[in-house]
Formats: sequence, C-alpha cells, structure tokens
Amino acid sequence: ELVVTQGFPCPHMQSIASSALRRVVLSASKRSNPLTSSTRRVVNRSIITRSAASMRAIAASVPLSGDAQVSYEALTSRLKKLSSLNDIEGIITWDELVMMPEGASEARGAQKAALAELVHLQATSAAMGEAISAAESAGAAEGCPWRRAVIRDARRDYNDAVRLPAELKAKEAELGAKGYAAWVKARKNDDWASFAPVLEELVALRKEMAAACADPGVSAYDYLLDKFERGMTEERLTEIFGELRTKLVPVIAKILAAKPLAHPPALESGTFAEDAQEAFCKHVSAAMGFDFGTGRLDRSVHPFTGGAGPHDVRITTRYDDSVFMDAVMGTVHEVGHALYEQGLNKEQDGLPVQRALSMGIHESQSLFWERYIGQSQEFWKAMLPEFHANFPETKDVSADDLYRFINKAKAGFIRVDADELTYSMHVVLRFELERALFGGKISVAELPDLWREKMRELLGVVPETDTLGVLQDVHWSDGSFGYFPSYTLGAMYACQFHAKAREEIDGFDELVAAGKFTPIRDWLRDKIHNVGSLYPSADELCEAVTGAPLDPSIYVEHLNKKYSALYGVAE
Ligand SMILES: [Zn+2]
Repeated sequence: ELVVTQGFPCPHMQSIASSALRRVVLSASKRSNPLTSSTRRVVNRSIITRSAASMRAIAASVPLSGDAQVSYEALTSRLKKLSSLNDIEGIITWDELVMMPEGASEARGAQKAALAELVHLQATSAAMGEAISAAESAGAAEGCPWRRAVIRDARRDYNDAVRLPAELKAKEAELGAKGYAAWVKARKNDDWASFAPVLEELVALRKEMAAACADPGVSAYDYLLDKFERGMTEERLTEIFGELRTKLVPVIAKILAAKPLAHPPALESGTFAEDAQEAFCKHVSAAMGFDFGTGRLDRSVHPFTGGAGPHDVRITTRYDDSVFMDAVMGTVHEVGHALYEQGLNKEQDGLPVQRALSMGIHESQSLFWERYIGQSQEFWKAMLPEFHANFPETKDVSADDLYRFINKAKAGFIRVDADELTYSMHVVLRFELERALFGGKISVAELPDLWREKMRELLGVVPETDTLGVLQDVHWSDGSFGYFPSYTLGAMYACQFHAKAREEIDGFDELVAAGKFTPIRDWLRDKIHNVGSLYPSADELCEAVTGAPLDPSIYVEHLNKKYSALYGVAE
C-alpha cells in the first residue's frame, strides 16, 4: 500500500514502506529516528450507520456456494501467495537491519530488487485482475463483511499497482535516492538552498502520481493522505487539527510557563548497565503479554517492529548506558506495535483484511501502551521492585519520582525529541505546510520562513538554523508527504481508546498498578487487533470501539488535566 516510499536507500524509509503491505512498522518516537544522534466533533451519519450495519453483519455471515465459492477461493489463494512473498521481504529486511554482515549489503540489494519485481508482477498480473473481477461479479462479497473487506482491499491494491505508469515508478525511485542524498548533505551543512530544487521536483512528482493513480475527483493531497491513513481527507483533518490547535496552544503555554519539575540526580545522570536494561525490558515485554513463542526481541541501531505477520513478529530496541528510559519506553512502544501484529485475526491469514488498518491505528497501539500505561504512576508502582533490582543505584527513587521524570514537558525545535504535551504541535505545523504546498497556496521557497513563524505561534520558540527547522525530518526527502498526521492521529486515537477501556474494564488502574496487563491486552485484541482492516477507515473503527468518531477534545482534556496536576497549575 505504501508504494509512495518503496525503493529508497534509507533503511528507515524502506522499513516504513514495508509497513502496510509488509508489516514492518517504525515507531514515531525519537527512539526510532535513525537521524538524531542523541536520539469532530461533526459526526458523520453515514459512518455510524455503516458501522452498526457491519457489526450486525459480523454476527450473521452467510456461507458461500457454487461460483461465488470457487471464485473467492481462487482469489484468496492468489492473495495468500502474494502475502507470503511480502512476508519473505519482511524477514530479509529484519535480517538486514539486525543480523546481516556489512559485506552482504550489495547482494541483499539485488535479492530485494528481484523479490520486489516478483511481487510487482504477481500484484499487477492479468490473472490477479481477472480473479478479483470474477469474485466481484459472482457476488462473493455478499453476506459477510470479512469477505467484502478482502475483495474491497484486493481491488484497491490492484488498482493502485496497475495505475502507476512504469516511468513514474522509475522516476520515484530515482528522485527518492537523489532527494535522500541531497537532504543528508543539506541537513549537515544547514544548506536549504541545495535541497529546495529537489523538493520542488518531489512535490511535482507526487502531483503527477496522484493525477495518474487517484480516483476521479480526489485531490493530490487526499490521495497521499489515504496511503497512510485510509479514508482520511484534508477536510476532515483540517477540522481535527484545527480544533486541536485552538484548544491546545493555550494549555501548552500555561504549562511551559510553570516552574520546571525537579528530578533525583540518580535519574538525571549515571550509568545503567546494558544487560540490566535488557533484563528489565524483557521483564516489561513479558508482563505486557508479548508472546515470545511467535516473536523476538533483538537489538538494532534504530528500533522497529517487523517480521512476517502475526505468527512471526520481530521487535528491536537499543540500549544507551547513560539514558535507561529511552530503551524502556522504546520497548514499551514497540511491544505495543507487536501486540497489534500478534493479535491480528488468524482466521484471515494472508488476506488483506488481516492487515493493520492504518499507520495512525498502528501508532495508537504503541502509544496506548507507551503514554497511557508506561507513562502512568500505576505502571511504575508495578515495576518498581524489578526496576530497583536491576538498577540498585536508584534504590531511593520512588514510583512518583519516575512518573515525574518521564512526563517532563519542554518546548523544543525537534519533533522526534518532543514530549507528550508538545509533540502534536510539530505535526500540526507540518500538516499546515503540506496542505498549503499541495493546495498551491505557498511555494517551496517560502517553507523555511513559514516554519519559523509557525514554531513561534505554536510553541513560542524559533530555531536559528534550518537544520533545527525545515530540514530536520527525513520524510520529505523521498516525497513522503501526508505521513506526519498519522503520528498525532495515533496519539489521539490512543487517548480515546484508553478512556473507553477504563470505562469497560473493571479496576483498570488497579490492574496496571499490579502489573496485570492481560485483561487490557485482551480488550485491545478483541476490539481493535482482531478486526484488522475490516472497517474502511479509522474513524469507523473508532466509532465501533468508543461510540464516536475521533474527538480531539478528549485528548486536549487529558493533557490539560495530567500536566496541570504535574506542574501544580489550575486546569
Ligand atoms: Zn510507532
């Protein structure tokens, strides 16, 4: 699905490219970034009606017979083979990032290119097109929302793959490589002027691709957004982020004006043995319910979740002996992604409906665990004995000290280093710029100045260099426009899911404080993981789980309440 980022030389982006089709997910947190060294309220009626209808239909699936059965089986057999090829890609990518000796990189490049060609041939074959058409005309989708979703997504993937002209695909690969190289250099030398012309070419290429591939009437930016966040549109996002901006900016300003929190020296500096960090991270992963029988936890330079679907989920983390919390929260984050993968519906093995719904929903699962479990007081009550056992030098540190330590807020220039309170403003900034750029309201040349202006408006700080501003992220260097919103959508979905989980699970906070996470994992599994891509959009899933589409005010209320209490200011 994420063809927009395929074939680029940066391992970070390759992994992201793999995510939807190939089930490799890079985390949105700073721990995942390979580039930093320190590291509606307008309710859509049709949505509600459709969600309720599909929920009822789940209970009443009608078995197929005759032609419909034959055509459905022929289609799913093709789809499963394609999925297996993509799984192989997932494993060799994991190997490349975790195990592969350096000398094998050229050979691995050739292997991946050969595999990609094979996948493309199968995905775009006339036989695949005929199998989809046969299943559609035989009525195989009728009577079962799962079959309907399989055929819907097979059609979607097929159209996407065949509509892209070969020369645009080649140009995409070429420009991606060129853009990445130019960006690395420009960022290093704080030289925006050298990157701007390539960025202009990338914007033009994405517009050209949208013109060739998008359904009639779909704008270039909506086409790009849909690659990462299916069903999401610029209009809906403008509404969501508009409300978020209006309500959150004053909360942020209030908290940042308060007296900074003080922390015990044992947490701020010291040496935390890597082996002890690894032991603690494995303890946390097991407690969260990560299944080591169908998964692995290894080390890599840049943490990610990958592998080959729900039966083989590979997560990685990294350890730095001066900052233990990065590894701990990084692991909690990746385990959140991994639990989603391990919880996908095994009755739909190898079929498109089994896949994660969107990048934002994937991120909601990692952030659910990271923000609402890992960053809670209760979690640290549960983990304190194990923490002290692994890090004896912290014996005087309390659960409350740890809670305050991991929830400090500060305005900064760099998105990947941002805390929970300020993070979303970095995303709002990028969305507003991308939207204006694709809408023809601004030019590439204006980006650096507009960046500074928006940083001042949103967070009250202005970067002195472009390296700390417009050049900081890798995403635009290969034309990954429309990707940033997923990070903050994920945080907001996580918040809304968490509020619902606390209503529906008896003694939620007590369970966390006792380190008993199984009922929470199982709630997420039942409501979110198991339904995969059954719903056509994240709003519809959110409606089915929480009773309402995404509502940014829930997120703002959470942040206001939590940070006002932490910083001792009025809500
Ligand atoms: Zn993530």
